[in-house]
Amino acid sequence: MATASLIPLNPARGVSDYDLLFDCVHCGLCAEACPTYVVTRCEMDSPRGRIYLMKSLAEGRIDLDDDAARHFDLCLGCRGCETACPSGVHYGRLIAGARSLVEQNHRRGFVDRFKRRAVGAIFPYPHRLRVLLAPLKLVDRLGLRPALRAVLPRMIDDWLDLLPPLEPDLRPLARGATIAPRTDAPTVVVHRGCVAQVLANSENLNSERLLAAAGYRVVQLEPTSCCGALDLHSGNGSRARDFARANVRALKNSGADAIVSAASGCSVAIAEYGDLLRDEPQFVEAARAVSSKVRDLSSLLLDAPAGPKHEFRCRVTYHDACHLVHGLGVREAPRKLLASIPGVTIVEMTESDLCCGSAGSYNLTEPAMARDLARRKADNIVATGADYVVLANPGCEFQIAAELSRRGSNVKVVHLADFLAMASQ
Ligand code: SF4
Ligand code: SF4
Repeated sequence: MATASLIPLNPARGVSDYDLLFDCVHCGLCAEACPTYVVTRCEMDSPRGRIYLMKSLAEGRIDLDDDAARHFDLCLGCRGCETACPSGVHYGRLIAGARSLVEQNHRRGFVDRFKRRAVGAIFPYPHRLRVLLAPLKLVDRLGLRPALRAVLPRMIDDWLDLLPPLEPDLRPLARGATIAPRTDAPTVVVHRGCVAQVLANSENLNSERLLAAAGYRVVQLEPTSCCGALDLHSGNGSRARDFARANVRALKNSGADAIVSAASGCSVAIAEYGDLLRDEPQFVEAARAVSSKVRDLSSLLLDAPAGPKHEFRCRVTYHDACHLVHGLGVREAPRKLLASIPGVTIVEMTESDLCCGSAGSYNLTEPAMARDLARRKADNIVATGADYVVLANPGCEFQIAAELSRRGSNVKVVHLADFLAMASQ
């Protein structure tokens, strides 16, 4: 391995959860479920290879050099390996520990540092993102985005490529509650996220309206703090725990029976607060209680069916957002919900549960691999001949829409909540 910016590590357990590394029996059954291995065919870009790296680092047999950090950086955190693993390896926890180790012990190049700091300083704070996007909103209104992109540096242009149109009113809203909820109806809160409430708030609003229409009592959470997932993915465990504590307090005070998020990455982060705050005796019990209430939108709507009754004739393919399918284990409920809409035909795509390359802020920090995966996903979508690709995570929506738009495809990319709203108009 290269030795540039090599920092010797203490051979003591430098990687957290050392004992969990021994759950891996090196069978390799996870390899073909790993998007980075599928693309590079490099063992060190497979789950088994990364676990081997973690163990070698923890035992002081190798140093944390540029190559080792690179193999961890390239991991999407999609957790496809957890679904595939017969030994129950807790890969999500392992990679979170490895990322913290990298952040604390490895010095990155200037551009990489700049990108990661920019993401960390802006994205978790909706008001900062709104201020930053205000001039761009004006540019969009004047139809000048293509002209602006032509004069911007490549990196900023790539980032702009992933931004949806900044006109939230263009998306349809579901009708409001059509039935008065019973006083004993379960209470649901929709966690509105950070980036999602700025760039895709229709998904939050439609989730709330659909739940209300299905008879749930919907309570608001104001204001909503970032769930901490972005920090967990970038190795900033300390700030992730700060966000988690704020959310545990707010979600507990909301009194909600169920917690939903339109972003599946946020759902999984909240579902794992009990684990994240396990060493904080004053929070762990409340955190576990909050985590146990996380549900996905489609399962709640299926439990109380009040979906679209009239026909909405179209062909739909469904993309499994990683954290929904691999983190929460939700695969069938969204498909059942879509199939219940009169006129909708579902066509399965190949590799529906392989990551699209979005993965939180991964497509901003690792654009080359993200683009490879987006191309692969777009090929599989186009091959279905579908009119719509429906998904349950705004990050996947932006990533796939950008790739389909680059190739001039007419397939429309729509969040499940927005699709149900559209079908009920
Ligand atoms: S989280 Fe995803 S990218 Fe990372 S090792 Fe597991 S399957 Fe591969
Ligand atoms: S992570 Fe699981 S599937 Fe992958 S090599 Fe280890 S034991 Fe096998």
